[in-house]
Amino acid sequence: MYNYLFGPVPSRRLGVSLGVDLVTHKICSLDCVYCECGNTTNLTLERKEYVPYKNVIEELDHYFTNHPTPDYITFSGSGEPTLNSKIGNVIDYIKTKKEFCDSCGSYKSSVKNKIKVAVLTNGTLLNDESVRNALLKADLVMPSLDAASIESFKLINRPHSKINLDSYIQGLVDFRQIYKGKMALEILILPGFNDSKRDLELLKNACCKIKPDVVQLNTLDRPGTLENLIPASRQLLEEIQSVIQSGHILVEIIASSKRQETKAYRNDIESAILETIYRRPSTPEDLASILGLHINEINKYLSTLEQTGRITSVSQQRGIFYHTVKE
Ligand code: SF4
Repeated sequence: MYNYLFGPVPSRRLGVSLGVDLVTHKICSLDCVYCECGNTTNLTLERKEYVPYKNVIEELDHYFTNHPTPDYITFSGSGEPTLNSKIGNVIDYIKTKKEFCDSCGSYKSSVKNKIKVAVLTNGTLLNDESVRNALLKADLVMPSLDAASIESFKLINRPHSKINLDSYIQGLVDFRQIYKGKMALEILILPGFNDSKRDLELLKNACCKIKPDVVQLNTLDRPGTLENLIPASRQLLEEIQSVIQSGHILVEIIASSKRQETKAYRNDIESAILETIYRRPSTPEDLASILGLHINEINKYLSTLEQTGRITSVSQQRGIFYHTVKE
């Protein structure tokens, strides 16, 4: 069992993705109302080595020696990965490490060079030049921007008090100008929170300034930490797509149906989750602890099971409890 790696998990956008978690639960610069990891317990902008670089590298080396190569290594997890001051070093390690070849007697690019690196970030630290530079070697950076009005930003993302929305958006603009990889800007649509005409106009303007390769519209898979959160319908997402899309911006709606088709979806994990919650309704944290899996991995399976109607959830004081649907 690894401490900092999780998966590989079947990902909507990346195929088979090995996750790397560079912060401990739950350190973030935002406290989004929809966060799958629960409330932020350490709301901070301080960058430091929350998880030791050396330990992460050791786990990666062990993984590469003992497992098949994933499609992607993805920096995500239970908080904001760019808060770890060593994220750039870990990406460098993955991208530049060479291995000694016994047969030809020289150092060659290792298999790690062929693995793509993705970073899922809330983007709030990209106004810091050192953070921008740290991500330059990634193949795919997926920052999020859920609101471009201060009111909605505060309502949805509940940011650290020192985050300035204009500076946040400018950081995304500045990063785009120097970054050569693919940038996919994610907007999570929450009906009643960020789907007003004004919100959408401001988001569209921000997207035009940022110029990502693609804007991805997403919505809730599952209930968030607040009761009044509901997912956007397909129809609403399509309407928003047509508002934001322009000659310069490609906007896509992220479909959620591909997960079960990917080869990393493990039926034994799914069965273990079903068996556990059949006996005792559990929170994602309970399941992570009982089954010895990372909470992100648990969340992916819960999401698929809920979408297919095999389980359902109820929000209680200790968290969101999942139970099986009686047939
Ligand atoms: S930025 Fe991501 S990890 Fe942080 S609170 Fe929002 S959804 Fe959760």
